[in-house]
Amino acid sequence: MNFDLTPEQDQLRDAVRALGRKYGHGYFVEKAKAGAHTTELWQEAGRLGYLGVNIPTEYGGGGGGITELAIVCEELAAAGCPLLLLVVSPAIAATVINKHGTDEQRKRHLPGLADGSQKIVFAITEPEAGSNFHRLGTVARRDGDDWLLTGRKCYISGVDEAGHVLVVARTEDASTGKLKPALFIVPTDAPGLERSRLDMEILSPENQFLLYLDDVRLPADALVGESLDAGLPALFSGLNPERITVAAMGAGTGRYAIERASAYTATRTVWGGRSIGSHQGVAHPLAHAAVQVELARLMIHKAATLYDAGRDLEAGVAGNMAKYAAGEAAALAVDTAVQALGGAGMTTEYGVATLLGAVRAGRIAPVSREMILNFVAQHVLGQDKSY
Ligand SMILES: Cc1cc2nc3c(=O)[nH]c(=O)nc-3n(C[C@H](O)[C@H](O)[C@H](O)COP(=O)(O)OP(=O)(O)OC[C@H]3O[C@@H](n4cnc5c(N)ncnc54)[C@H](O)[C@@H]3O)c2cc1C
Repeated sequence: MNFDLTPEQDQLRDAVRALGRKYGHGYFVEKAKAGAHTTELWQEAGRLGYLGVNIPTEYGGGGGGITELAIVCEELAAAGCPLLLLVVSPAIAATVINKHGTDEQRKRHLPGLADGSQKIVFAITEPEAGSNFHRLGTVARRDGDDWLLTGRKCYISGVDEAGHVLVVARTEDASTGKLKPALFIVPTDAPGLERSRLDMEILSPENQFLLYLDDVRLPADALVGESLDAGLPALFSGLNPERITVAAMGAGTGRYAIERASAYTATRTVWGGRSIGSHQGVAHPLAHAAVQVELARLMIHKAATLYDAGRDLEAGVAGNMAKYAAGEAAALAVDTAVQALGGAGMTTEYGVATLLGAVRAGRIAPVSREMILNFVAQHVLGQDKSY
């Protein structure tokens, strides 16, 4: 068992931490409040190679794995910059295209994802289907060599910042007549693709959208992979990276909140000479949150190690557990930090309450805590499904 990062991973962590701190939470909040994006940070992270750490070197990436990308997600979040699009573009889209795309798709898309000049976002959620992806209603039909996509998607992050969206649709399997999933790389300016921004109660520089696809015409090579059979494995290949990196973002956010609160409670005095942190009613909840965050980090490390070793099934269990643990720990850490800071906790200046919406959403998306508990109940505990 090895709990240490390699020297290269250590260096990556220190370098990403330095970049995150250069921008900091103030920058993140300022952009979010202005309705702007964290473009400078994204571009610099891309130039420094941090967005492509998990992409093969032949496409301009770092040749590492999800362990490296999780380090990037965690350290930026720990500096107060939890960038959701890291989970969508380098973690999901780059993995899916690298593992299941055609040579041509890899050559066309991976270099831009690696240097950050291109973003590909991910659209699976639908208003009617929700957590039940078996009910997806977005349909892909053949029209000659082309594909026509029709359907609706909701809560899709970052469509306004991306050149393409990876859309999960369904097609009919000619051999069985059953509907099977297929992934399409759709330009965000494709005729027939409309979007409207959702008003969300999350302070974030990234936006969520409703997408309307009305006979969006795509060439044959928009389909991910050589054939329709690539659809299901391609879809599943994005899930573990998604869960592991979103968990890392949660753990980083938890660390950030606890660090802010601890610095404050160690020096704030309101009862004579002693700091408020000397009172166990203040210190214990922070210590408890720190334990939860550290436990989540351990599970993230395990999940990423299993994933990078190609042990996908075990990584699936560990990744789900890591996502659950980190989602809960991040929400607890931010809420506890706000409480420990008192009134200051609710100010913009102290930069903790600004994360309440994001960590709350982290218990719902990209997979809810309940759906993870269902997964664990069925696949680890052998329980029947109720649905
Ligand atoms: C900030 C944010 C960003 C997002 N970004 C994206 C994105 O980029 N791309 C994308 O495709 N989607 C995105 N989503 C969507 C997200 O993945 C979904 O919100 C999530 O999967 C839950 O689906 P739902 O909202 O339809 O909830 P529903 O499925 O309607 O569920 C509502 C509640 O019921 C619970 N529930 C449902 N079924 C069961 C069951 N069988 N057992 C127990 N409990 C159950 C759920 O856990 C949840 O608490 C984003 C969402 C948010 C909030």
